[in-house]
Amino acid sequence: MAQKRDYYEVLGVSKNATDEELKKAYRKLAKQYHPDANPDNKEEAEKKFKELNEAYEVLSDSQKRRMYDQFGHDGPAGFGGGNPGGGYYSYSTSGFNGFEDFDLGDIFSSIFGGGSGRSSRRNNGPVRGADLRYNLDITFEEAFLGVEKEITISRDETCSTCSGSGAKPGTSVETCKVCGGTGQIKQVQNTILGQMQTSRTCSNCHGSGKVIKEVCDSCKGKGTIRKQARIKVKIPAGIDSDQSIVLRGEGEPGIRGGAKGDLYIVVKIKKHSIFTRKGSTVYCNVPITFTQAVLGAELEIPMVDGKKEKFKIPEGTQTGTVFTIKGKGFKNINTNSSGNFVFTVNVQVPKRLSKEQRELLVQLAKTMNEQPPIKKKGIFG
Ligand SMILES: [Zn+2]
Ligand SMILES: [Zn+2]
Repeated sequence: MAQKRDYYEVLGVSKNATDEELKKAYRKLAKQYHPDANPDNKEEAEKKFKELNEAYEVLSDSQKRRMYDQFGHDGPAGFGGGNPGGGYYSYSTSGFNGFEDFDLGDIFSSIFGGGSGRSSRRNNGPVRGADLRYNLDITFEEAFLGVEKEITISRDETCSTCSGSGAKPGTSVETCKVCGGTGQIKQVQNTILGQMQTSRTCSNCHGSGKVIKEVCDSCKGKGTIRKQARIKVKIPAGIDSDQSIVLRGEGEPGIRGGAKGDLYIVVKIKKHSIFTRKGSTVYCNVPITFTQAVLGAELEIPMVDGKKEKFKIPEGTQTGTVFTIKGKGFKNINTNSSGNFVFTVNVQVPKRLSKEQRELLVQLAKTMNEQPPIKKKGIFG
């Protein structure tokens, strides 16, 4: 996992920078890294821009800044601050990687349990919000051309009445008197190895170190409210089933000033009536007539985008012959090149013939020295 840069370093300011200095540095860098200002290097700029926003989000909030100064990245963005996936879009080729339950904080506490120095400190610090997963069904054509979708998800959002503190506006959040704001109660025990100090979570404040005097009416003290959020998602052309798009910061809000979780949109492509796909190659079957197969023909092959492509098949084309139209398949997201369109021809044998047509075929068979055709019932019978 990539090491996270120090937030002060990201903003290029000293540890004792004033709010004014932070704001100035942020504004300057935000202009510089804004993805719209870097059309040639959008991905890198986007990464920098997000890093910058995250740093400023934390340092511009005095409470979060204090937490960060104390705990570093372990606090504000969850343990290690890992961002699974990396960029804004993340495509996994081997299906969804189980990000749904991906929370290093949970893993960390399950390994170390309660009571160790680190995990007990975490109880009191900010916790990164949970990641969300959304399954999005799109059509074959939408995957081919790319599409913008609006989805509605249900998620917790920071309560706007109390700004997430859980306290009624105008009332104060007090430091817990039982633990003195540390969230932990230290106990000294006498053992055969001498005195040992252990700590447990303060039951008065449940480890937060703070006690709410009057609870916020809107969120009942939770600090968050369940809301329906409408979110626009850009699906790039060429996406395949089970690939996912990551929308950073669109997950659940963090706890005690922790960063927001991410939203993973997992794409499922509906079956098409005539086309199938493998990677960036499109496959389909094309029926041709008996005479087209014998004499050769110019066919009009339907493409995924709705257009038609002219294609000449030669004289004497056998049923089951496979033809390829180059570059008319799906776009490859990684290389930006396009795959091929592959079709198999199936010769359709006519089932009903007029008397005249039948006579012509009998003549044809004779010229080919074939056995005389089976006599049709009704002529003699
Ligand atoms: Zn509230
Ligand atoms: Zn307490």
